[in-house]
Amino acid sequence: MAETKYIFVTGGVASSLGKGIISSSIGKLLQARGYSVTIQKFDPYINIDPGTLNPYEHGECYVTVDGHEADLDLGHYERFLGIQTTKANNITTGRIYKSVIDKERRGDYLGKTIQIIPHITDEIKRNVKLLGNKYKYDFVITEIGGTVGDIESLPYLESIRQLKWELGRNAVCVHLTYVPYLAAAGELKTKPTQHSVKELQSVGIQPDILVLRTEHDLSLNLRKKVALFCNVDETAVIQSKDQPTIYEVPLRMQEQHLDEIILRKVGLPVGETPALGPWRDFLDRRHRATEAVHIGLVGKYDLQDAYKSILEALSQAATYNDRKADIHFINSEKLNEQNVEEQLSPMDGVIICPGFGQRGIEGKFVALKYCRTHNVPTFGICLGMQCMAIEFARNVLGYADANSREMDEKTPHNVIDIMEEQKSITHMGGTMRLGAYECILKPGSRAMEAYQTDHIQERHRHRYEFNNDFKAEFEKAGMNCVGLNPESDLVEIIEIPTLKWYIGTQFHPEYSSTVLKPHPLFLSFVKAAIAQ
Ligand code: GLN
Repeated sequence: MAETKYIFVTGGVASSLGKGIISSSIGKLLQARGYSVTIQKFDPYINIDPGTLNPYEHGECYVTVDGHEADLDLGHYERFLGIQTTKANNITTGRIYKSVIDKERRGDYLGKTIQIIPHITDEIKRNVKLLGNKYKYDFVITEIGGTVGDIESLPYLESIRQLKWELGRNAVCVHLTYVPYLAAAGELKTKPTQHSVKELQSVGIQPDILVLRTEHDLSLNLRKKVALFCNVDETAVIQSKDQPTIYEVPLRMQEQHLDEIILRKVGLPVGETPALGPWRDFLDRRHRATEAVHIGLVGKYDLQDAYKSILEALSQAATYNDRKADIHFINSEKLNEQNVEEQLSPMDGVIICPGFGQRGIEGKFVALKYCRTHNVPTFGICLGMQCMAIEFARNVLGYADANSREMDEKTPHNVIDIMEEQKSITHMGGTMRLGAYECILKPGSRAMEAYQTDHIQERHRHRYEFNNDFKAEFEKAGMNCVGLNPESDLVEIIEIPTLKWYIGTQFHPEYSSTVLKPHPLFLSFVKAAIAQ
């Protein structure tokens, strides 16, 4: 195929309508037709990346293989499409402005006054087309964060208006809105949708397709009405009703021919409807799995989005083990010796979550001591792995003051420490070990048994590391270092082989678990939890 086609996904009426899931579903359906597809997210906030954002503000920070701290929607793109995204797949207003200002300082604009139009919009347009130009994708889907009407979104909408004009048939606009149900009137209301489309039209964008998020089925009449008021084809008014799982959404979109409508708009042949066999198999298996496996998530954030990728990786792994993941959030700040038994004993397995800083850390040690001494399958991820090492040092090696340098600068038993070369770094943004690193696994280890290979690559996001000065002592006492970075010798995986399943990873395996390729460590952990 010659020219890359661009699909823009915007949202109106309210945030959190699931633009990321709709973008991923469109991507999935086009990919199933043999097209090469990538998806990118443009976020209108001023931060350079979400790395320094609190999970309360923006949910989990996702990490790409090339070490970019990214919006969690990139996780959806990877899980749905099985693709790998990069830094170029997530742009923020901060990055756009930074790059324009850097160019201005370099003198690239030759004495011109730098303005939002054309300089900022040109930079946005350059970034929209970057992936398409470089890798010749058939389709580049661009999701615009925020909702139409936000001040921050305006430069993006203006860029889309210009691109639609320039690209002609090669551009399609999909607008996602919300149709509320007024219980008192017993009616679905389309007015917010009409207003949202008017808002888009007022900045010069006519959407081609409307996806209406709703809790009830939309009648033909309602769709006709929306089509009439909003200048779109009747068939291009699609409903997106709440689904038992987000992974159903591609099927619902396919039933309403969303992919065909897009193909017609860009002038591509429609052809046969793909069967989506493996995807349907996954969903069938998921619906058949009714028996639960109970997993406790010990962490300090009691909100869904903060551990998004872990939740998804767990539920995928449960499906492939023919179980339903019943995930119980256990607030580590409230966990103590008195209540740990009551909280953890109903769990088949426990995950100790990643995180930064002191808050809630002591509860993680309490949980780990319980899990280790009661032989509960336990998975420590990043900070969770570091806590595994600290708890072991305190209660098995007998170093009561063992800690991470992050929590206690002065401990003599700094079993988790900062690396020498990192000590001089003072900025908070972008100073971590980020992205994919190689790891060699020890033959005979449980980790290697799970992976079925001795050479892996996993994604990191942390500053502190296992302190190799203590390695021999740990191993002698029964906690083995079974995954090592071949270049730096850094410890990436620890495990206690005498327990059923007690593994900690310095990296984040959850980022690379996808619907059709669940992660081996999560599969093996859930399996051990079921056996429990
Ligand atoms: N705070 C720890 C570190 O920086 C762990 C980070 C994490 O869990 N992602 O090393």
